[in-house]
Amino acid sequence: MTRKISILGSTGSIGQSTLGVVDAFPELLEVTALSAGRNVEILAEQVKKYRPSLVSLRSSEDARRLEAFLGPGGPRPEIAWGEEGAEAVATHPEVHSVIAAIVGAAGIAPVHKALLAGKRVGIANKEVLVAAGDIMTAAARDHGGEILPVDSEHNAVHQALRCGGEKEVERIILTASGGPFLTRELSSFDSITIEGALAHPTWKMGNKISIDSATMMNKGLEVIEAHHLFGFEADRIDILIHPQSIVHSMVEFVDGSIMAQLSTTDMKFPIQYALLFPERTPAPFARLDLSRIRRLDFLDVEHERFPAVELAYTALREGGSAPAVLNAANEVAVSRFLHGEIPFTSIVEIVRAVLERHLPRKANVTSLEDVLGWDEWARGEARA
Ligand code: MG
Repeated sequence: MTRKISILGSTGSIGQSTLGVVDAFPELLEVTALSAGRNVEILAEQVKKYRPSLVSLRSSEDARRLEAFLGPGGPRPEIAWGEEGAEAVATHPEVHSVIAAIVGAAGIAPVHKALLAGKRVGIANKEVLVAAGDIMTAAARDHGGEILPVDSEHNAVHQALRCGGEKEVERIILTASGGPFLTRELSSFDSITIEGALAHPTWKMGNKISIDSATMMNKGLEVIEAHHLFGFEADRIDILIHPQSIVHSMVEFVDGSIMAQLSTTDMKFPIQYALLFPERTPAPFARLDLSRIRRLDFLDVEHERFPAVELAYTALREGGSAPAVLNAANEVAVSRFLHGEIPFTSIVEIVRAVLERHLPRKANVTSLEDVLGWDEWARGEARA
């Protein structure tokens, strides 16, 4: 049977990989709804190829531009825009699975709506779980929704956890590539350029996540994400640097056995798993050839080099509003770095300063409004 899917963020890196998975399984997957930001030209091409019944863009202006791109003889999907449009894509009644790939906190509201509507959501946007994890998991639990991780590490953990029962698991080991600055002289971090920080050694990804990988805030956010996805406390989630990015993560069981998931560095692997779960289906993507890779290296995280990791553990242990604040401050700081406003080393300094200002006023978060309120507060602080 064909599963109908929608994609939030279809023109970005994960969105395009998701369409690559649809291309590989035309009998199993069908695109019903797409949302994008401002990338009207790419969306128009996708509409012509996949013929979704609903599409959404950021603004009404972009929606009109899309109509012009599609032309008079082209396909005529329903065209929506703004937050409402993204939510319509997330909750389309015919859709079984939603891939959530909108960058940053903008994905929070549509993912929540999709879970309330009982959809399976493949979450590629970790910020949603970092900022509002308890609310998302409750929405899924109470309304028949399902969260499947598309982040490669958590997807690996999801697969490895199938090897044993809950009580048999000792800890999760998230692997990290270490990014482009794993061996760079610490004294030269002041002269890191935007291009240098964007040049990830193993994964080709969007700008925000590439910078997060360079600071390793990405791995810190993934520790928080793992806590929400799998219910583990901070002291049972560890990080191991693995520069080849072949082992995507591991689970250690109480008897000392470790289960790892390996594949090439292609996001189509976790995406196909999330869309086709619990089935495994023959796939045409490039296979791992371990005899060519020959060696896999592992080393501990150097905290002086990557102070973002400890900040994320602190936010997770503090709980409440702290992870949402960490996430929002980081988003602003990364954006300021990408705009050339601040040096690389200031990204983590800004996040630290905002988190320190926040901790005395930390609060519980019980609603999406709480989360978005703290998100906004942290953005203001990080801009100042
Ligand atoms: Mg990841």
